[in-house]
Amino acid sequence: MKIAIIGAGLAGLSCAVALEKHGHSADIFEQRNEIGLGYDIAELMTPILHGPINDSVKFFSETYDIHFKPASNVQKIFVHSENESSYVEGNIGFVNMRGRYEDSYEKQLAQQLVHSTIHYDSHANYENISKEYTHVVVATGDPQDTQQIQPFDIALPSAFAGAVVKGEFVRNEVHTWFNNDFAPQGMGYLIPHSETQATLVIVFPQYKDEWLQKRSEFWETMVKEASHALEQELVVENEFTINDYIVGKCHYPRIGNTFFVGNCFGAITPFLGFGQTGSILTGIYAAQDICGHGDYEKLCKPLFNDYEDSLVLRRGIERLSNHQLDLVTKSLHNPLIRKIVTRPNMGVLKGLSHLLKPFISK
Ligand SMILES: Cc1cc2nc3c(=O)[nH]c(=O)nc-3n(C[C@H](O)[C@H](O)[C@H](O)COP(=O)(O)OP(=O)(O)OC[C@H]3O[C@@H](n4cnc5c(N)ncnc54)[C@H](O)[C@@H]3O)c2cc1C
Repeated sequence: MKIAIIGAGLAGLSCAVALEKHGHSADIFEQRNEIGLGYDIAELMTPILHGPINDSVKFFSETYDIHFKPASNVQKIFVHSENESSYVEGNIGFVNMRGRYEDSYEKQLAQQLVHSTIHYDSHANYENISKEYTHVVVATGDPQDTQQIQPFDIALPSAFAGAVVKGEFVRNEVHTWFNNDFAPQGMGYLIPHSETQATLVIVFPQYKDEWLQKRSEFWETMVKEASHALEQELVVENEFTINDYIVGKCHYPRIGNTFFVGNCFGAITPFLGFGQTGSILTGIYAAQDICGHGDYEKLCKPLFNDYEDSLVLRRGIERLSNHQLDLVTKSLHNPLIRKIVTRPNMGVLKGLSHLLKPFISK
């Protein structure tokens, strides 16, 4: 077998590490000159809508012998809407660094490789690669590459603005904002990297040109809101914007000996845009199939189900006015609701999506 992986991101590297566990190695092609995204961020991995995986670090370690060291474990998530603030607490998940940071999850995966080679500065072309290799794993993080080969259902294109902010933070406390005035039908969030640095982001669907035109205005408001909520003047560095970030799903996880993993599969859950767990899992599942230890399409089924549940919740949240978002935030003052939302294995959001499904046309 001659295996090529296009993209040394979360999904591609997870696939390579899992292949090595089964005694195979891969040629990994990465278009950049180093591992990493084009921006510096911390991301969140949470069990919300991934019911069976309450503790992702323990799960990947014990089930697949793949090891991650997160930056922190999240104990509290604050929810801010126009006129309300509340929070939920418990073991809510992990913060991990991405991209160029020394301890990013991509770099941690690359360090676990022994026999595979990462070819940097190699922008790979699927047509050429598929002629040379028996198996190709498409892991470019860009569903447009999937669309060159097969249909890809787009749920929403989204736009981001973000930055690293400096200030004083509690490491294991994340803040979120749901306010249509500056993150229409989307959200803002602040994820600490350390006591002095955090990632601040707004993300919203690109449904209206007007929203994209107002992005700088939205971003300024986000910085003010975050400074206000955290009672300090945040210093903004390394700003970035992203357009046309596609959330959706492919029709076929595997075509012949070509496997679509990570964002190229459709790993992002549309409700709040979490894609890391699905990216790592699809990478591992593809490796299992290539090595004759599973059927990729069958293994991916629960991820497709999660995607559909999450899409229902997304369509639901898109309909909420600021007043209704205030009511949702207010409901989190109720200790029982707080407890249910964060309780492991309750699958609350999944249950909610089943309740909402009949009322929401996709
Ligand atoms: C701003 C932002 C914040 C996010 N926050 C969260 C979060 O908090 N929690 C969460 O779970 N998810 C989050 N996500 C989603 C998550 O980051 C993605 O789902 C995940 O990174 C996808 O992994 P991937 O391996 O498919 O793609 P990537 O990690 O993007 O890797 C793709 C790699 O392929 C390379 N590549 C592309 N084309 C080629 C080519 N032709 N040849 C060679 N190499 C190529 C790229 O350079 C890149 O290194 C966020 C996404 C964004 C944009």
